[in-house]
Amino acid sequence: MAQLIDGKQLSDAVVASLAEETSQFAAEFGLLPGLAVVLVGEDPASQVYVRNKVRQATAAGMRSIEHRLPKETTQQALNSLIETLNQDPEVHGILVQLPLPAHLSEPDIIQLIAVEKDVDGFHPLNVGALASGNGELIPCTPLGCMLMLQQVHDDLSGQHAVVIGRSNIVGKPMAQLLLQANCTVTVVHSRTRNIEAICREADIVIAAVGRPEMVKSSWIKPGATVIDVGINAIEREGKRKLVGDVDYQSVSDIAGSISPVPGGVGPMTIACLLKNTMKAALLQQTA
Ligand code: NDP
Repeated sequence: MAQLIDGKQLSDAVVASLAEETSQFAAEFGLLPGLAVVLVGEDPASQVYVRNKVRQATAAGMRSIEHRLPKETTQQALNSLIETLNQDPEVHGILVQLPLPAHLSEPDIIQLIAVEKDVDGFHPLNVGALASGNGELIPCTPLGCMLMLQQVHDDLSGQHAVVIGRSNIVGKPMAQLLLQANCTVTVVHSRTRNIEAICREADIVIAAVGRPEMVKSSWIKPGATVIDVGINAIEREGKRKLVGDVDYQSVSDIAGSISPVPGGVGPMTIACLLKNTMKAALLQQTA
């Protein structure tokens, strides 16, 4: 049976250690690290994510400022809020919960966020910095996956890592972080041929696809490490349930270690958002 990589437990430890850093920060600079969370509309999943982010920011002793805007909010009104937050010295991190309603431009909003407050790490300048190996604010989900991998690998050098998915928010930055950690990286996607055989060669599999339980035990080399990023709501036996992109039941019989869903990458993503907020606050106060 595979070793569990417990994202909930690890994220609690990260948040506890951030709470100590927050008090040191407050003592030194006379203010708290501040995170502004912007939610446009009433998407139920986004509301849950925002609530969890705000709750965890509070647990880390940070100041969190929530901006809930109606779904009819215009681009101009959203731009104007972002510009105000960019100028506010008590706001060190700005997170705009995605997806935005269809009439709003996500690229425009992401570009408008001040680079040094972009705690999601999605601004093109932060994306470029990560690609060139100088990233400061790194996308939270892949950063969380790296911390989880460090729980079971002292050194990732030479490991063959297969990343399933090539999105801008997970797959691509994940591949870059693994490359920086000296892994040999293969990225597979919807046009890749024979994904199963490629995954079977991997020492590490990161699944970020959005397809419930797609990765089966026959895809996994015995002893491999499996990190499941997927969050998929399904109906099973008349009940709504969250499952990952990995068939946890069968894969945990063959993998060396595996992260669960829920309680895996999800909580680590939030912990890393707060880590980025602390980093952004320190960079801004010492600039
Ligand atoms: P996207 O939909 O943006 O990307 C999915 C990727 O998977 C694409 O690159 C796509 O390929 C690839 N893909 C789709 N179908 C297949 C297939 N059958 N075989 C191989 N590759 C396939 O999703 P995200 O990256 O945003 O998210 C992925 C999953 O992670 C989702 O379940 C999401 O909910 C979850 N997630 C979880 C987070 C967390 O905190 N735990 C945070 C962010 C996301 P192509 O590019 O060719 O279309």
